[in-house]
Amino acid sequence: MKNIRNMDVEWGYTGETGPEHWHTLCDWFSLGAKYPYQSPVNLTKTLISENTADREITFFYKNEEFTEKEFKNTFHFVPPNTESYVVFEGEKYYLTDIHFHTPSEHTFEGEHCPLEFHLVHMNNSGENLVVGCLFILTKEINKFSKDQAAFIWQTETHQQWFNPAIFLPEQRSHFHYLGSLTTPPTKGPVHWFVFDTVQQMDHDFFQRIDEGMLPFNNRPVQPLNGRKIYFSE
Ligand SMILES: [Zn+2]
Repeated sequence: MKNIRNMDVEWGYTGETGPEHWHTLCDWFSLGAKYPYQSPVNLTKTLISENTADREITFFYKNEEFTEKEFKNTFHFVPPNTESYVVFEGEKYYLTDIHFHTPSEHTFEGEHCPLEFHLVHMNNSGENLVVGCLFILTKEINKFSKDQAAFIWQTETHQQWFNPAIFLPEQRSHFHYLGSLTTPPTKGPVHWFVFDTVQQMDHDFFQRIDEGMLPFNNRPVQPLNGRKIYFSE
C-alpha cells in the first residue's frame, strides 16, 4: 500500500483500480472507506424512517461564472467565485463543483437512471453537502436546449455563465441521508439530498460535455448499515 496522500493516485471504475479496490490503493483512500455509511445507496420510499419537514434545504443560487474542467474521471463545472450556496440546519454550504455520473449512482427502487448530476457544496469547516439530480436524455425541447433564450451555452470557450438552479427540478421533494463521497477517498459524513423527480437533459448539450468521458463512472450501490433515509415532500 502506498504511504502517500495526494491527488495522483490512479483510480478508475474497472480492473485493478476499480471501486472494489479503491480502499487498497493508498492510506488516504483506506481511511475514507472506513466510514461506515458509504454512498451511493438505493433509495426507496418503503425505507423511509420518518417523514419530516425539518430536513429542509434552501437554495441561494445565483447566475455566476463556471469554468469547464476534466479531472477525476469526469467533466466538471467549477465556479471560481463560489457565490451560490445552500442553507441546511442554519449552516451555509457553498457550491464548489458540478459534475455527473453515467449511469446514475443512486438508484430508485433498484433502478438506475441514465444520468446523475452532483452539485457539491462545502461549509467553512470543510464538511460536504451534495445534491443529486437524476436525468433521462431527450431530443425534445427542454430547459437545457440550445434555443432556450434564458440559457445560451458558449461552446467555443471553457467559461460559462449560468444559474446552477437550472439543474434543480421544480418539484423540490427529496430524499435525505448521511453518506460519503462516491469517489476516492469516499470519506464521510456527507449530507446527501437526492430529488425524487427525474428530469430531462438535452441530448446535444450532454453529448458535448460527455465527449471523451468514460462509458460508465458510477460507484456501485453500498449497504445502508442501518442508517435512516428521510423524505421531505
Ligand atoms: Zn459525484
